[in-house]
Amino acid sequence: MMANSIKPDNRDEDLDSRQFNLYEKREKIHTRSVDGFYQFIRLFTGWPLLVGYFGIPWLMVNGHQAILFDLPQRQFHIFWITFWPQDFSLLAWALIIAAFALFFITTLLGRVWCGYTCPQTVWTAIFMWIEQVTEGDRHQRIRLDKAPWSMTKVYKRSLKHGMWIGFAALTSVTFVGYFYGIRDLFIDGYHFQLPQVAIFWLGLFTLGTYVNAGWMREQVCMYMCPYARFQSAMFDKDTLIVSYDIKRGENRGSRKRNVDPSTIDMGDCIDCTVCVQVCPTGIDIRDGLQYECINCAACVDACNGIMDKMGYEHGLIAYTTENQLEGKAWTWMRPKLIGYMLALSVMMSFFTYALFARSTLELDIIRDRGQLYQEIADGKIQNTYTVKVLNKDVVEHTYLIKVSGIEGITWSPSSKITVAKGKVGELAMNVIVDPNVLDSVNTDIVFTVTELESKIEAKTTNRLIGPLTEDIL
Ligand code: SF4
Ligand code: SF4
Repeated sequence: MMANSIKPDNRDEDLDSRQFNLYEKREKIHTRSVDGFYQFIRLFTGWPLLVGYFGIPWLMVNGHQAILFDLPQRQFHIFWITFWPQDFSLLAWALIIAAFALFFITTLLGRVWCGYTCPQTVWTAIFMWIEQVTEGDRHQRIRLDKAPWSMTKVYKRSLKHGMWIGFAALTSVTFVGYFYGIRDLFIDGYHFQLPQVAIFWLGLFTLGTYVNAGWMREQVCMYMCPYARFQSAMFDKDTLIVSYDIKRGENRGSRKRNVDPSTIDMGDCIDCTVCVQVCPTGIDIRDGLQYECINCAACVDACNGIMDKMGYEHGLIAYTTENQLEGKAWTWMRPKLIGYMLALSVMMSFFTYALFARSTLELDIIRDRGQLYQEIADGKIQNTYTVKVLNKDVVEHTYLIKVSGIEGITWSPSSKITVAKGKVGELAMNVIVDPNVLDSVNTDIVFTVTELESKIEAKTTNRLIGPLTEDIL
């Protein structure tokens, strides 16, 4: 029994010996720069994104900023199309289509989005390039980190952080410009007339970009990005992954150039660790597929360079699939992929139809609730309405308004209204009827608005309230 009894002191020791720290301290990653085929391709995916992001707000289309999310006016201008609050379902559909497109691409090509076009990847690459320009290559940066503070270190660090903050501020100004209007943002900023809310968002996005791309980098992908967590659910054995050919690479070890590995009972991996040094997420792809891998192929290019130097074939690390690694053929005829394709085709067809079939005209009628009806001359009665005509087109239009539904119905004043592009025209209208023709206190009447040139029309029904006459009783 004594063996099972633990004295208080002994219990504390026992707990101490089993305690361990669950927090894994981040090891700073000093990535080595690399050139190669896939890094060349990444230039063609990263630069258009940057040029588009910084350039598009300066383009004008139909008299407005090419892409402008005008929240006060509740209009989203996307090139030639303007979305209104009434088109919200279209925007929701566009987001769903984008999500399915991402699922489809992920199933087919793995995490190419992460490696080539994700803004976090592209912005981090720019910040890393700035770091390399200001502090030198990988070895110089490691030395600088370890060196005590000196004037040179202060200068290099200040230059780096200054350039990071400058680029983050430029990113932030452009981002806010998509909502505020980039020209107005500069003009109001120049005159110190920016509203506090704009200053707040400018500061927040500058800070966010600086921290995300400068300090957190791969931590965003590893711990914050939800896509990194659920993308494996879309993977199958034919999804493109970056993989190390373990059969060809092992046993790994150093040797002289051009030595045939089979003569020394070794694989093709010379264990130079260059593939690890270039990895932006700091992983060793030789340990197998890991969720941290963003498929950037930096290790592929690095290893191919080493293979060239050793006189070995490319492809020790390569884009491949699990099936190909097992010697099986690759196929795109997979149920999941076909399902995504079908769903995408159907949704895109509906979206395109809905986009082009949507009317450029909307009509809204609000009945004056202040009084039920008003008696006027000749024993007639009138109801008052506010007619709102929304011109969603990109040019001004004149519309004709008509009211029908009751015998002898008339309305005043003028039934014509001219509405500027993208604006709402309002008209107070009196609708007059003879109460003797009414067979109910509430009668439906139809408002019709017609664009004079194209004859596009919109209709809506409202109710006219009349007196309780003997006929009705
Ligand atoms: S770069 Fe290639 S050869 Fe060098 S360690 Fe990585 S896999 Fe091995
Ligand atoms: S393992 Fe290779 S492909 Fe994956 S993130 Fe690292 S360098 Fe990029």
